[in-house]
Amino acid sequence: MENTFMIKTIGVLTSGGDAPGMNAAVRAVVRAALKKGMTVYGVKRGYCGLLEDDIEPMDEMSVAGIISRGGTMLYTARSAEFRTEQGVLKAKATCEKYGLEGLVVIGGDGSFRGAADLSAHGILCVGLPGTIDNDIACTDYTIGYDTAMNTAMELMDKLSDTSQSHYRCSVVEVMGRGAGYIALNTGVASGALEIITKEKPYDLDKIAKKMMEFKARGKQNFIIVVAENIGHSEEICKLIQEKTGIESRATILGHVQRGGSPTVRDRVAATEMGYYAVELLEQGIGNRVVGMQGGKIVDFDIQEALSMEKPYDGKLHQIAEDIAF
Ligand code: ATP
Repeated sequence: MENTFMIKTIGVLTSGGDAPGMNAAVRAVVRAALKKGMTVYGVKRGYCGLLEDDIEPMDEMSVAGIISRGGTMLYTARSAEFRTEQGVLKAKATCEKYGLEGLVVIGGDGSFRGAADLSAHGILCVGLPGTIDNDIACTDYTIGYDTAMNTAMELMDKLSDTSQSHYRCSVVEVMGRGAGYIALNTGVASGALEIITKEKPYDLDKIAKKMMEFKARGKQNFIIVVAENIGHSEEICKLIQEKTGIESRATILGHVQRGGSPTVRDRVAATEMGYYAVELLEQGIGNRVVGMQGGKIVDFDIQEALSMEKPYDGKLHQIAEDIAF
């Protein structure tokens, strides 16, 4: 039977910071493409794989057993060379060598800028939001966010146990280079006294006063969550201790938040988005970013997606402040 698909060969890559659920997305892309009669290649280490010809054919077995694994089986990287015109032309030449007409790019904003450049050179690219920070405006949800938040929350629960036993204050820095969403949600979920994010002004004197008041009323331990992009959680911790006299310890959770087996939510979102990306390419549609809005899968022009702004949930932050003790 004649193959009526507009696109016959596609590639898939993961780029920027790794995120749990990227593997589930790769798996969905590969299996969906094969199911639709396409040939599919895995590009290693993000755009570096296109520049260094590090590409391999994928079949059903290539992605077997990866849905439960964190990280990315395709590896990921950041490439300075790809940001140059010469780099994009080299990447395009590699795509042509393998007959790649379409490419699924799983990553963050930077990776989507690269995908837009490659789309402008005739390679149809579809971006999937893969970043733990949930800082991509066109989507309510990014692949990896739920797993990272659950990891951070579990670690905070453990810190809470020890700070409770010692009548301490724990200042915990969580990830979020571009936004304070992880801090906000894990702060709420772990019952933090205070959540410090870039999106909402904070006042250490007021926080210290609140801690003293609550201490006088019997509270013995405190959690203060700080978003990574605030940048000086050790200093904040020192000042809190100086202002309150309450023994305080800073903990930077760091990269541990990026690892681990993805949650149900991340695996399902990655699978739905991966499948959708292939459906777009199948129709010859590129230069799009796939997202999720109100529980539905949607897609946007890459430039439009990059120009959007994501609202901060000020109401949730207010609730956290109102019920904190
Ligand atoms: P994360 O949110 O995890 O940092 P990201 O995709 O935003 O993910 P970046 O390092 O910003 O991570 O981008 C990944 C890669 O995408 C870069 O190494 C580069 O090759 C490419 N890239 C980034 N910005 C651009 C740009 N403005 N133009 C073209 N390519 C870009």
